[in-house]
Amino acid sequence: MDHLKAKIRHVPDFPKPGILFYDITTLLCDPQGFRDTIDAMAAPYMGEDIDHVIGIESRGFILGAAVANTLGCGFVPIRKPGKLPAATYQESYHLEYGTDALEIHQDACGSNQRVLIVDDVLATGGTARAAIDLARKAGGKVIGATFLIELDFLKGRDKLAGEPVYSVLQY
Ligand code: AMP
Repeated sequence: MDHLKAKIRHVPDFPKPGILFYDITTLLCDPQGFRDTIDAMAAPYMGEDIDHVIGIESRGFILGAAVANTLGCGFVPIRKPGKLPAATYQESYHLEYGTDALEIHQDACGSNQRVLIVDDVLATGGTARAAIDLARKAGGKVIGATFLIELDFLKGRDKLAGEPVYSVLQY
């Protein structure tokens, strides 16, 4: 997977001092890199009868929609508050400074639909924790949570203990 790592741009001090930002736009604009990324994220779930990929706004939309297409299943968005038009469930989570929240449509997953959560980066795990909890509130059975990048040193997996987490690239 080193050929994928080589295409990800590292931007120091973005969006604020001290953060090393993993910029996947340089990977997405490479046709082979994009295809290999989606194939690697989808591979563990081929034959798992996934009903819906749930993508987290906003880079999770890009990756999640393509993974859904590869798996031949539907796509469900998890969005920032106030963006989804129909009745929603909401989960709040802690950021380094303050809190944020995410929403899902209440009727997004139906009853016991098999869902796969997709995002670009697993960092502290707060976003993924909220997404998994939302998927269950909406009736989903969480088969997996898959990430292109996992930042091991931030120990996001600790927040997701017992959940089926997979990542393609680790730093
Ligand atoms: P967290 O809730 O801390 O796991 O953060 C995960 C979310 O923040 C993901 O949706 C990522 O897109 C974004 N994110 C966190 N850290 C980074 C980073 N170093 N580079 C790029 N995106 C990041």
